Amino acid sequence: MTEQKAEETIFSKIIRQEIPTELLYQDELVTAFRDISPKAKTHILIIPNKLIPTVNDVTQDDELALGRLFTVAKKLAAQEGIDEDGYRLIMNCNRHGGQEVYHIHMHLLGGQPVGPLVAL
Ligand code: 5GP
Repeated sequence: MTEQKAEETIFSKIIRQEIPTELLYQDELVTAFRDISPKAKTHILIIPNKLIPTVNDVTQDDELALGRLFTVAKKLAAQEGIDEDGYRLIMNCNRHGGQEVYHIHMHLLGGQPVGPLVAL
């Protein structure tokens, strides 16, 4: 995504609340909401408000927002009551990483054991 202009995804509409989605958290840098197709009892997506298509497009200017993903993940894990048992944070990049939505997002998965790290 160097030359090409990044295209908005459904997540931009969620950030702007153009699609009714219950937000679990929002501030000037990030937004969090439940995954529409949960892969675990708790499955939350935490995303930067800025459209960054993939991890390959991240720059130093994004460090504050991307750091915020972790502090919000921690806060939401506690709020969901899954912090002590534990959870998994995942970011997928491009085709081999299994990325479907090209607006980077952190998956917060928990509420049950979430299995082995990779199933190749
Ligand atoms: P990826 O495979 O790109 O890492 O994950 C994309 C995630 O976004 C998937 O888990 C998918 O279920 C979720 N998702 C896709 N569209 C929507 C939507 O419109 N609303 C919500 N809440 N989640 C979505």
